[in-house]
Amino acid sequence: MRRKVIAGNWKMNNDLSESQNLISHLVSSLSKEKVNCDVIVCPPFTSLSEANSLLKNSVIKLGAQNMYFEESGAFTGEISASMLKSTGCEYVILGHSERRTIFGETDQVINKKIKKALQSGLLPIFCVGETLQERESGVTNDIIKRQVVEGLKDISSDDMKKIIVAYEPVWAIGTGKTATPQQAEDVHAFIRGLVKSLYSNEIAENLIIQYGGSVKPDNANVLLSQADIDGALVGGACLKADSFMGIIKAA
Ligand code: PEP
Repeated sequence: MRRKVIAGNWKMNNDLSESQNLISHLVSSLSKEKVNCDVIVCPPFTSLSEANSLLKNSVIKLGAQNMYFEESGAFTGEISASMLKSTGCEYVILGHSERRTIFGETDQVINKKIKKALQSGLLPIFCVGETLQERESGVTNDIIKRQVVEGLKDISSDDMKKIIVAYEPVWAIGTGKTATPQQAEDVHAFIRGLVKSLYSNEIAENLIIQYGGSVKPDNANVLLSQADIDGALVGGACLKADSFMGIIKAA
């Protein structure tokens, strides 16, 4: 049985005091619930250290939204894996579609980032997903296959056990359009099959594959009931404690 993992990607939202409010609200709401899943929050870099302090006695784990693959040096504006570790981060989102499209990250760059994260002891949440045009042209599986194969290039079996994959159809992110449970399940099953062929049945069966794309409290239950959907990567609905809690309760 795979444990469900719910992660909140805050994106470029919440200054320090807004972050303190949201984390405090989540910590207090979660302390009243019997939580049956893993919960991760990914605030912006500027709130990580404070979030870590506020999460000290909580079950909520801390993640970042991005990092650079070099160790240190003349990379103005970038953040390294060891800097994230030093703030208390355990996870890092890599390959988000906004990084791919707005910031031009290629599969090769994402692969380097995944390797660096693993080397530094961070657990990657590796995002893949097709655009609307790709889905409508019938090439969804080809795109997912390329992103998975290139993103995981030269990653060992031991390291693969530490990775979470997030399937996020680009057309469903922040649009209010959710993939139907069947559309999502089909791609999740495809990803699991791919990981089985690249690694082993055991690694594929234990792999956590999250769904992301307009997940909300009222659609979380049906999505999370699919055989190969093991959690959610949540954007908009994680910015309010009540709606994020609704998704956690569904899990
Ligand atoms: C995301 O950004 O990873 C995401 C899934 O966003 P939203 O839930 O807002 O679609």
